[in-house]
Amino acid sequence: RKFGYAIVGLGNYAINQILPAFSECQHACVTALVSGNKEKSNRIAEQYGIEKSHLYSYEDFDKIADDPEIDAVYIILPNSLHAEFTIRAFKAGKHVLCEKPMAVTVEECQNMIKAGKEAGKKLMIGYRCHFDPVTQKAISIACGDQLGKLKIIETTNAQMLNPTDSAGQWRLNKKLAGGGSLIDNGIYGINGSRYLLNEDPIEVKATFVPTDNPIFKEVEDRILWAMFYRSGVVSHGICSYSTNVTSHFSLIGDKATLLLDPATTYWANKVSLRQSMHHISSFKSTFKFDQLNQFSAQLDHLPISIARKSETLATGEEGMQDLRLIKAIYEAAYNNSSVSTDWGDWRQA
Ligand code: NAD
Repeated sequence: RKFGYAIVGLGNYAINQILPAFSECQHACVTALVSGNKEKSNRIAEQYGIEKSHLYSYEDFDKIADDPEIDAVYIILPNSLHAEFTIRAFKAGKHVLCEKPMAVTVEECQNMIKAGKEAGKKLMIGYRCHFDPVTQKAISIACGDQLGKLKIIETTNAQMLNPTDSAGQWRLNKKLAGGGSLIDNGIYGINGSRYLLNEDPIEVKATFVPTDNPIFKEVEDRILWAMFYRSGVVSHGICSYSTNVTSHFSLIGDKATLLLDPATTYWANKVSLRQSMHHISSFKSTFKFDQLNQFSAQLDHLPISIARKSETLATGEEGMQDLRLIKAIYEAAYNNSSVSTDWGDWRQA
């Protein structure tokens, strides 16, 4: 039989991206829903052919322990609820796929990893870009010699936050979101810099960009950061909650530049290689791919990893490393100082 997921939280991302993606999965299916809204839960259950006996509320969530149709839960809740539901799911004996950011504190991340180990179950974080052929191509070029010596990585991840919809409202609430555009969008630039370079930074610097928009009382709109690596590479990033949606990475070596634009959107990301010749002409090759559903590939990856007894491409440790860096970037911006992130050899090229 297929691997059964319980979807926890029926908001925008769950309804518009994840649930429809099960139709293209080979190994996974949706077998249960967890929601605070009974009417919505019933409606979606009918749409996806889920029996009423597999519908749960946040209060009776722990009863999933007795539901053999559920192999894993996929947590798609506001960020500050990720740790609680991950730990409850492990106590119920289920595997966990948890959305990014993994949690809102490093301590929560540690507790989530510990709970998974104690339960003997897998914890995977929803870093869907790993399952996009554009990202995979970019990683293979970055690891090869086409760029020459890689020196600079630039990342921009921005969107226009809507303060009137509920998804915008919890994102503006520090307690629920844990931070602003950095923890929500900037995380793509942080995670992306690390997987493209296959190295972790040893120092960060950052600054908040001032705003007079009163909606940003609790969380930041724009923040700019630089991460420095032992190899000599610098990656710098900016993210925003008040601009046109943008997702752009460039990797600049001494021989060529790799451009990803868009880099981390849901569909139709693009990667191209640009080499300058004699300062005046350049040629650009854009790689073509069959469109692959990154959401379905991500949903299938967990059961495949469990069957193969292999690590997932997006472990809890990966999610925790991004959160540690996010906290270091906030610290650097608050104190206007550089912060050492030389925590040992987590991932050094
Ligand atoms: P959303 O607001 O649309 O959905 C959140 C759901 O949680 C809603 O159904 C809401 O009712 C429910 N909820 C339960 N308790 C709540 C509470 N106390 N306050 C507010 N809502 C509560 O948000 P979303 O955009 O779907 O984001 C959900 C999670 O998914 C976030 O962690 C976000 O970072 C992540 N996400 C990831 C991606 C990606 O590309 N990987 C994209 C979008 C969102």
